[in-house]
Amino acid sequence: MKLVIENLNKTYANGVQALQNVSLEIPTGMFGLLGPNGAGKSTLMRTVATLQDADSGSIKLGALNVQSEKQELRKVLGYLPQQFGLYPKMTAEVLLNHFAVLKGITAKKQRKELVAFVLQKTNLYEVRNQHLGGFSGGMKQRFGIAQAILNNPKLLIVDEPTAGLDPKERNRFYNLLSEIAENTIVVLSTHIVDDVKELCTQMAIINAGNVVLQGNPIQLIEDL
Ligand code: ADP
Ligand code: ADP
Repeated sequence: MKLVIENLNKTYANGVQALQNVSLEIPTGMFGLLGPNGAGKSTLMRTVATLQDADSGSIKLGALNVQSEKQELRKVLGYLPQQFGLYPKMTAEVLLNHFAVLKGITAKKQRKELVAFVLQKTNLYEVRNQHLGGFSGGMKQRFGIAQAILNNPKLLIVDEPTAGLDPKERNRFYNLLSEIAENTIVVLSTHIVDDVKELCTQMAIINAGNVVLQGNPIQLIEDL
């Protein structure tokens, strides 16, 4: 399975050309989308996540046309936005249960098992009854992944997920992502070159709405 983006264009109402003929081929594994603030990363990710429309171009996940089959895409998509709002007074388990309901998992027993599974996977099972407001930054981000993988997605999009995490939490978070990337397309947006170099099997550099380079991180970054 591949995510194939072809000639994607987006100009905002204020005239900013956020994406200019962006074409990318993204295989299973961890893909790094590297670029400075304002490069167009979030625009690209939100477009792939069906949260906004491009002006032209195509996005395909396998045989699925992302723009014309949004509902289908959402069933196989996990998304952790840059600003992920939590309900501080809820416990991890209760909120995950709500997310699972929203994702259409109506059978109570199945939901309970699924929630327990993602809590274990993200190393949050022990703290499942704690309030999210008391979670550390790292715990919050792992919770963000827990909700994103409830539907066992084929494509997981994470936008600048490690901002504000200390090195230990960051490593823990990245270990989790790497594990998921063994059988999932994971697109990681970041402005940290070293993270991409260490983690990603493929990468692209985007700047001012243009893909300037794409390929293998070790080769590309050495050439920079
Ligand atoms: P990045 O995620 O790489 O920081 P963005 O996709 O957020 O980049 O932004 C790309 C460009 O588009 C920036 O110049 C940004 O200011 C602009 N932009 C983003 N969202 C909007 C919007 N809703 N309306 C107008 N301009 C926007
Ligand atoms: P990011 O850090 O992901 O690039 P931003 O801080 O640029 O995000 O944008 C945060 C929100 O503000 C997004 O919803 C984006 O679409 C919107 N936004 C960004 N730039 C502009 C802009 N120039 N005009 C209007 N909305 C914008």
